[in-house]
Amino acid sequence: MMFSWKLEDQPVDTTPPLLLELRNLTTVFPTRRGLVRAVDGMSFMLREGEKLGIVGESGSGKTVTLLSILRLVPHPGEIVDGEALFLGEDLLHKPRTEMRKIRGKEIAMIFQDPLTTLNPVFPVGEQIRESLGIHNIVSSSNGWLSRLFDRRRIAAEQERVIQVMRDVGIPSPVERAKNYPHQFSGGMQQRVIIAIALSCEPHLLLADEPTTALDVTIQAQIMDLLNKINREHGTSVILVTHNLGVVAEFCDNIIVMYAGWMMEKGTVEEVIADPKHPYTQGLLRCLPRISEKREKIHPIPGLVPDLARLPPGCPFSPRCDQAMPECKEDRPFPLIELGEGRLVRCLLY
Ligand code: SF4
Repeated sequence: MMFSWKLEDQPVDTTPPLLLELRNLTTVFPTRRGLVRAVDGMSFMLREGEKLGIVGESGSGKTVTLLSILRLVPHPGEIVDGEALFLGEDLLHKPRTEMRKIRGKEIAMIFQDPLTTLNPVFPVGEQIRESLGIHNIVSSSNGWLSRLFDRRRIAAEQERVIQVMRDVGIPSPVERAKNYPHQFSGGMQQRVIIAIALSCEPHLLLADEPTTALDVTIQAQIMDLLNKINREHGTSVILVTHNLGVVAEFCDNIIVMYAGWMMEKGTVEEVIADPKHPYTQGLLRCLPRISEKREKIHPIPGLVPDLARLPPGCPFSPRCDQAMPECKEDRPFPLIELGEGRLVRCLLY
């Protein structure tokens, strides 16, 4: 009997390609009171088009993780270990000139407070155009002299500015491009920041608490906008927030951080429906729910620890309602794999 092998018989791998992989990323800050391990051995993978949320209270290492990826950790902070592989190449070992080309063009970041990010003395259209100019996105000629006098290039850049302002939902973009940041509301300023980030069509968007300074309605609009960008352009997003509710609505996967450690990881459905780590359980108990009639929400007792004086053992032990004597011992606390991509760092498992 003849054996026939058709192309369509072959299993098709539909897993999106890997975009970013962090391996044991460790960032420290020397302080007068001791060494602060702001990010301690962070490892995760992000695929193309994926939306990953990193949640945790202030000081858990979320923002430092993003800054480490872009090598923008402020002095005296230092990345002391690990790798950050972007499209297979380690960002931590790239020359500075190459990193400058990657920032904004390949990986863009949206910061928390639009007013401190935007320059108050330039019209917003000019600020978006600057980003295009830096990365030569719509350049039509070579050499600095010809670039300077290239009217076609400037017209193309202006057209791109208007287009990207329209894409992020800024009405009357032709007129609004001439306005200064103070002439925009908080929500519109954040749209301008997103327009700057999107102007070069990056593969990866790092969004650091992009809705914190905004009211709830505008928050929802900005999250809808990020969703639209992800859907239409396939842009991967890492969203950093303290709000588990925002992550639950927006993301595919969640990482929960505490004191620089990854405490739990899984899909949104897994982590929200069945949180394993006592810290994640505590964060979820803090969320108000419309479906449940609750007298009051239950905050996690105690305070975020001083990272320069962490207790021995599990850093969450002073606040954990399930702590055991061995949790306070100076011993390794490895991540336990509970299923494919489902991780937890806790002695209960
Ligand atoms: Fe709580 Fe112990 Fe688990 Fe830490 S290791 S979260 S203290 S049970």
